[in-house]
Amino acid sequence: MNRRNFCRNVAAANMAGAAAGSPKAGETASAITWSRRVPVRYQADVAVIGGGIAGVNTACAAARAGARVVLVERFGIPGGNLTTGGVASFCGETRGQGEIFDEIVGDLEKFQAIMPYLPYEKREARVFDHHILALVLQELLLRHRVKLLLHTRFVDVLRKGNRLTEAVLCGKSGPEALRAGIFVDCSGDADLTRRAGFAVRKGRPEDGMQLPMSVMFFVRHVTPAEFQAQLPPGWFHPVRREEDLPMTSVWPNGPGGNALKVKIPRFDSTDTESLTAAEIQARRRIWEVLDYYQREKKQPWRYDGCSPQIGLREGARIVGEYTLTVADLRAGRKFEDAVARGVFYLDGHKPDDDKRTYILPKDQLKVPPYQIPLGCLIARGADNLFMAGRCFSAEQLALSSARVSTSCSMMGQAVGIAAALCAEKKCRPADLDPREVRRRVEQKGGVL
Ligand SMILES: Cc1cc2nc3c(=O)[nH]c(=O)nc-3n(C[C@H](O)[C@H](O)[C@H](O)COP(=O)(O)OP(=O)(O)OC[C@H]3O[C@@H](n4cnc5c(N)ncnc54)[C@H](O)[C@@H]3O)c2cc1C
Repeated sequence: MNRRNFCRNVAAANMAGAAAGSPKAGETASAITWSRRVPVRYQADVAVIGGGIAGVNTACAAARAGARVVLVERFGIPGGNLTTGGVASFCGETRGQGEIFDEIVGDLEKFQAIMPYLPYEKREARVFDHHILALVLQELLLRHRVKLLLHTRFVDVLRKGNRLTEAVLCGKSGPEALRAGIFVDCSGDADLTRRAGFAVRKGRPEDGMQLPMSVMFFVRHVTPAEFQAQLPPGWFHPVRREEDLPMTSVWPNGPGGNALKVKIPRFDSTDTESLTAAEIQARRRIWEVLDYYQREKKQPWRYDGCSPQIGLREGARIVGEYTLTVADLRAGRKFEDAVARGVFYLDGHKPDDDKRTYILPKDQLKVPPYQIPLGCLIARGADNLFMAGRCFSAEQLALSSARVSTSCSMMGQAVGIAAALCAEKKCRPADLDPREVRRRVEQKGGVL
């Protein structure tokens, strides 16, 4: 069986494995109406759903501007892809992103946990210690007096007309509500917006396939005496030939170790069963790839762990007042309502292939510095909903550049400023004067 078929079959097997809880073929799924009184335990001017790098920037910027902010994060630490996804590197330009990002980098520097600065033109990524980032982000949020709810998942939302009124959350205390004036979707997968019923797009236009996921794992170097291959015989489908490897990137991870990233395509992070299948396949592939490096390449590596969740490049993209296009990026387009910028190349990994393949040919990936307008961060049709980070309003290929953590941070800072302004003026995002947001972004160190 060739590897592509094998991957498909693993996915299919995982889906089938879930059949114990699913309706059998031919059966119609029934539905229930779920209704329950839920206490409104939290009130905020600005509610931020998702504590990745975009959510942290949003929450801190809004709090700095005087808003009462609640941040809801489903895991036990903030940072999203950068921490729980094990990404551990800022791509793009790490200066001029704004004061919140500067503070994050400054704190990592105090812990000696980040590479020295070089401009983007000289080096495209700045590696840091992702365990330390989790601590830095947590302390940053607390310094800004953001009310942080960890292990708390956003579940549903109530609407009056086009206004969101309360989010239903579920943490260990059970279902509780968060009432807020302004909501910001930083979930990466547009969870809040999808539950609210506003428009989203997913994947590439022809079949909805999203940019592929990848999983991160880590090895430490051992002496030849300590070394032995670890995958027991009979487990999974170890890789024997280099050409059978899925796209695997290897780089140093501190002294005496390496980080490896393995591409896991063809799954959907907004579908429960598909995401489950992706996680299962990722954990198997890690061992198949590791076995290749241990047995075939004779690398004296010992497995040192993997990220607790698979890395997600694209979930659902919210339809905003404006949608950023590849043509905008290629033209380095300037916008009157610009509030963030991007510099990274079009990093569009092919969604349906596990090899190192890109949607565009290599000589078409570069883009000049471009701007991101406020309109891309305002959900179309909603009266009090912004978004920041990888679920913002963009074409898939434009997202492949703007999804990097530096641009997501900048979007977050801009949206935090805008959300606090809306809360103060009691106005809709669309009624804000974008020039005022832009002025404040620039005052706070954002270079557009
Ligand atoms: C494999 C991989 C490698 C990458 N490499 C790089 C790189 O080298 N450099 C770089 O700059 N960028 C890289 N990126 C891109 C970058 O990491 C992400 O696009 C960026 O971090 C996204 O930030 P975000 O805050 O928008 O989303 P996320 O980081 O996805 O954060 C979303 C947060 O929302 C939370 N959440 C989601 N749903 C809910 C819910 N229902 N309730 C409560 N909380 C919820 C999540 O737990 C998460 O913390 C990479 C991405 C991947 C997948």
